[in-house]
Amino acid sequence: MISKQNLIDRFVSYVTVDTESDPNSMTTPSSKKQWDLAHQLVKELKAIGLEDVTIDENAYIMATLPSNVSHDVPTIGFISHFDTTPDFTGANVKPQIIKNYDGKDIVLNAEQNIVLSPDYFEDLLLYKGQTLITTDGTTLLGADDKAGIAEIISAMEYLVQHPEIKHGKIRVGFTPDEEIGRGAHKFDVEKFGADWAYTMDGSEIGELEYENFNAAGAVVTIKGKIVHPGYAKGKMINSMYIAQEYINALPREETPEQTSGREGFYHLYSIKGEVDHTTLQYIIRDHDRTHFEERKQFMKNIADDINKKLGVDTVEIEIKDQYFNMREKVEPVMHIVDIAEEAIKEAGITPIIKPIRGGTDGSQLSFMGLPCPNIFAGGHNFHGRYEYVPVESMQKAIEVIVNIAQITAKRNA
Ligand SMILES: [Zn+2]
Repeated sequence: MISKQNLIDRFVSYVTVDTESDPNSMTTPSSKKQWDLAHQLVKELKAIGLEDVTIDENAYIMATLPSNVSHDVPTIGFISHFDTTPDFTGANVKPQIIKNYDGKDIVLNAEQNIVLSPDYFEDLLLYKGQTLITTDGTTLLGADDKAGIAEIISAMEYLVQHPEIKHGKIRVGFTPDEEIGRGAHKFDVEKFGADWAYTMDGSEIGELEYENFNAAGAVVTIKGKIVHPGYAKGKMINSMYIAQEYINALPREETPEQTSGREGFYHLYSIKGEVDHTTLQYIIRDHDRTHFEERKQFMKNIADDINKKLGVDTVEIEIKDQYFNMREKVEPVMHIVDIAEEAIKEAGITPIIKPIRGGTDGSQLSFMGLPCPNIFAGGHNFHGRYEYVPVESMQKAIEVIVNIAQITAKRNA
């Protein structure tokens, strides 16, 4: 397998290229700088010997490792994204390599007193004795998801160099703009031509995910009536008090901060109010499709009840679906999860299978016809200065990719 140092070098060559995406841009990729790494990746895919290496006008990259067996094997894909989140700067990343981690505080930046501590981030203790890659405390790292890219490319390189390992046709896909929710939008599923795929975009070593939230956004607009306070009796309608009534009608305990696992929630994330009108913005989340539909209906019912009391147009609600639980698309082809689980176990790791409390590109791709569970890439503390990745977790992810290729060929022999 690829040496630790080569893997570190490869990973560092990606994270030192700034690829922050931009939610305010309408182009794809959303930021020009994403092209820099995209072009670099195209060169590298060609250099390691992949075929059909293509990049389209939106910077979606695809490549092929041809089958090396004569029998029919389903085509599988591995996908990751090369942009980083706009939530935190990804410019001038200066990765620090911590060899043989001793389980103590890691000073990321002495000058600014920024410390990565196991007192706060207990997961660090899982990696005692391993090699960690961290930030210098001033940027994010970009292991999300350049770890995934390094793992996929390293696994493909390994398979090219080891023709004795038997596998079917493998497709590789790298996308821009995942962090602003658009990674799947312009992904050409037909051109990719895989029977199924895996995003290498999970976190902790062992993670395997094929369930995510059903998601919708709701905007509640409440109309009031403004009158001079001195003459307001019986005339003024204060939309903020009606908003309060609306908020209180939803169960206070079904919120992100009071739920976990498969429990859904209503999340009020913005209030903008004056007497004349108030706007509430919510997201609605539930793994269960029936409960999800019930939650949306419940929010409409509260609006109806208030309107019955105060007049037809007092409360207006607009609800838009955002994404759906991929489980319903993956369950009919459950062997694709079984193969990944077997591959993880074969690498000597205990699979951690749990529902995602969010969405992935894989959930969108699953509904576009490409069933796509998510596998760990190894990083922790995404989207901020405390992001880090153990090199050993990345090595295990490479092994998992190679195992998946092998198991898929074997199962269809
Ligand atoms: Zn990611």
